[in-house]
Amino acid sequence: MKLLEQIWHSFWQLMFPDRNSCPLCAKDLGGSKLICAECATELELWKKRQFCPRCGRVSIAGKACQCARRLPFFKRVYGVAPYTGPYKKAIHRLKYGGQTHLALPLGCLMGEYLREINPYEKAAIIPVALSRQKMSQRGYNQARLLAETAGKTAGVPVLDNVLKKVKETVPQASLKRIEREQNLRNVFKVEQPAAVLNRNLILLDDIFTTGVTADEAARTLLLAGAREVVVLVWAIGVPGNLSII
Ligand SMILES: [Zn+2]
Ligand SMILES: [Zn+2]
Repeated sequence: MKLLEQIWHSFWQLMFPDRNSCPLCAKDLGGSKLICAECATELELWKKRQFCPRCGRVSIAGKACQCARRLPFFKRVYGVAPYTGPYKKAIHRLKYGGQTHLALPLGCLMGEYLREINPYEKAAIIPVALSRQKMSQRGYNQARLLAETAGKTAGVPVLDNVLKKVKETVPQASLKRIEREQNLRNVFKVEQPAAVLNRNLILLDDIFTTGVTADEAARTLLLAGAREVVVLVWAIGVPGNLSII
């Protein structure tokens, strides 16, 4: 068993009465360490479905998606799970329900996926930042928690406090796509450009729906001198189910 899985398993057993249940579907873990065998099989199947060949969004019959109009600033997005059902619920429990312990199994799975796709020989992870206001309301940044575990699992360094969110935004759900882009324009800032200069980066976030946030964060990182940016998220929206919340 890998070291992080071991730590995670002991922690889970120690802290939670439902320690033998899968953090995704709550069924018995049945000897598995992170998630149950059924969820693991489903996630393997998910990785085999068709994605847009240009940007990695979920696509219908392998066709190019909305990026046919304009290529995003990031090179490609990778999602461990679809943003539906138990995968969506799990990330909501972490993001809105204060269940920060979930960052361990989810982050582990993200790290394992990163090792699998291995986009760059040498890279660094950048968690998508929260504004100071959101940070003080929530008390934690779920992307940072996921990045810590994913980085340790994959053996990739995490550059924390490099990307900052300097402006608060109106909730994206209330806006049309064009307004979303305007809403997010210039909300990020790179604090230490030297840390990203000529580097390949893995921008890490909890979810990817319209992709506007990831695109703007990638644009900011490239402007600061980064070489290339790929996006890694826990869950990625599927066509016809792209709700923001
Ligand atoms: Zn399960
Ligand atoms: Zn695409």
